[in-house]
Amino acid sequence: MAENDRATGPGTRGVAVSTVRAGSRTVVLDLLSRSAPVSRAEVARLTGLSRSTVSGIVQELLVEGVVQESRGVEPARGGGRPPTLISLRGEPGVLVGVDIGHRHVRVAVADLSAVPLAEEARPVDVDHSADEALDLAAELVQQCLVAAGIGAGSDRIVGVGMGVPGPVHPRTGIVVSPILPSWVGRSPAWELARRLGRPVHVDNDANIGALGEVRHGAARGHSDVIYVKASSGIGAGLVLAGKLYRGATGIAGEIGHVRFDDDGPVCRCGNRGCLETAVAGPKLVELLQPAYGPGLTVGKMLELGREGDVGVTRILDDAGRSLGRVIADLCNHLNPEIIVIGGDMRVAPSFLRGIRDSIDRYAQPDTARALTVVPGVLGDRAGVVGALVVAQDDTAVVGLPSPA
Ligand SMILES: [Zn+2]
Repeated sequence: MAENDRATGPGTRGVAVSTVRAGSRTVVLDLLSRSAPVSRAEVARLTGLSRSTVSGIVQELLVEGVVQESRGVEPARGGGRPPTLISLRGEPGVLVGVDIGHRHVRVAVADLSAVPLAEEARPVDVDHSADEALDLAAELVQQCLVAAGIGAGSDRIVGVGMGVPGPVHPRTGIVVSPILPSWVGRSPAWELARRLGRPVHVDNDANIGALGEVRHGAARGHSDVIYVKASSGIGAGLVLAGKLYRGATGIAGEIGHVRFDDDGPVCRCGNRGCLETAVAGPKLVELLQPAYGPGLTVGKMLELGREGDVGVTRILDDAGRSLGRVIADLCNHLNPEIIVIGGDMRVAPSFLRGIRDSIDRYAQPDTARALTVVPGVLGDRAGVVGALVVAQDDTAVVGLPSPA
């Protein structure tokens, strides 16, 4: 964006000043359409344009009646009276967040500060059918728009972010892993965009969970964070030096498929003895069922764990230790400040204790001392909150149509 200011410099001679100005004006309007009321100084900071360029453009937009001024309530940066804020006239835009898990679809419609106005969640077998999950997501978006008093099919949507339970290629948005058979080779962002009539930005569920907890949850204020989603699958979102790290093909952080036991069972990824086969909630239920009966579910197991049931506590502690062993190696590589445990397993105290014990045992002592392990505070909503962050930032991949 700063290119617009530099466009009259050496190397771009011949670019008409009016073209540069029009480009800068589009940049300012784009920012205003996606943000809460904002000061001229913030517009300059966020767009990279100079303050004088921003002042000139805002003056023009005020005269044309495109934007309006209001008085802020927070003191200006560095003290002083609150600055004058600029916003677009007319109805403000809204953000849409979509979180597609292995077993659920959750949707939120929020204001431009990502404060939810309406939210809906439904259970669905996402692994079974991508089309069913995407149809449901589109339907829930319309329901949320109506519930928020905005009206279905609204043109007030200015950003849509989505998380899916598998890795997506960071340039194409195509699902790249056989972990989700019905989704492989497809572009969930493009397919939801087709249903909503708006561009959609996509990332995997652990990455959006990490964004949610970093921006609005347990990892606020931290720049080196490992977010581990521990539920029916195990995955990690890595925030390094304040930025999400996706890797070359979007598979960074797939710790659920680290080799754990050479002779272990075959995993859904096609390998054998992956960590996930020993630690994921449904696998622990299978281990416990011979003793606790076929009616045991992940929810009941976690409840028994909270009540201090000896057998369940043992299994959760062992699972935590196994996961912690893998996280410890990751900590030695990355030296994070904080590990946030998300997913439904975060509520089991013995699971968290097992993770911490293994990190203390297997990570370098200085590395272990430098970090805290905490449960996520956003709970089941981490994904949808992260999807709203993606909608707000537009930083994730805009999906391309799937190959025919
Ligand atoms: Zn695997």
